[in-house]
Amino acid sequence: MSQTGKKSTNAENMEHWAELVLPWLPPPALSAASSTCRSFRVAAAAVTSRRVADAARGLETYPIPFCNPTSDSPPYFYFLYSRFSFSSIPTSSQPWGGISSPPVAANPSSIDAFISSAAETNLFSGCECADCSLEDECSCSGFHGGGGMGMGSLSECGADCLCGLECANRITQKGIQVRLKIVRDLKKGWGLHADQVLCRGEFICEYADLILK
Ligand SMILES: [Zn+2]
Ligand SMILES: [Zn+2]
Repeated sequence: MSQTGKKSTNAENMEHWAELVLPWLPPPALSAASSTCRSFRVAAAAVTSRRVADAARGLETYPIPFCNPTSDSPPYFYFLYSRFSFSSIPTSSQPWGGISSPPVAANPSSIDAFISSAAETNLFSGCECADCSLEDECSCSGFHGGGGMGMGSLSECGADCLCGLECANRITQKGIQVRLKIVRDLKKGWGLHADQVLCRGEFICEYADLILK
């Protein structure tokens, strides 16, 4: 093989490895990797721009981009993203920003465990409605107010109900159906904003965080 052919094969190998490895790295490690060689620098820049384009890692219906009109911080905020609640910090990391990063939920087993344990203890009993959208008839539907603070809870049909995912009383289970963006403010830091007009009472998303002890 000629010297030129050998060089281009090496470069292709480096690009291949960069695509495999870099999406797994948090920003400081990504930055360190980008300074090692040209292939890694190009791949790291591509990973960064894909991260900026979608905080949701392709797991939601619409991408959730970062917008940073300030110049005082990185172009995105790094965190694990999950469509499900989890009770402890997942030990595994999550690829983000690769060319074809498969959608990976941080801890999909937690919701299964919760549903099965709840079913075992008879915490839920499903409805048997012909049409759950008729609110008076469906025992699952209802909004429980939060004392006028707009912090109430919504109850929906679940695993023990006879209806399927197309049921009108499974709004939150269909995930985020509106366009959102994460905007950097000089004083407040990163915050979630709507990127479209919302109707009053429309479900936006579950906005959760983790308390670190
Ligand atoms: Zn029902
Ligand atoms: Zn239902």
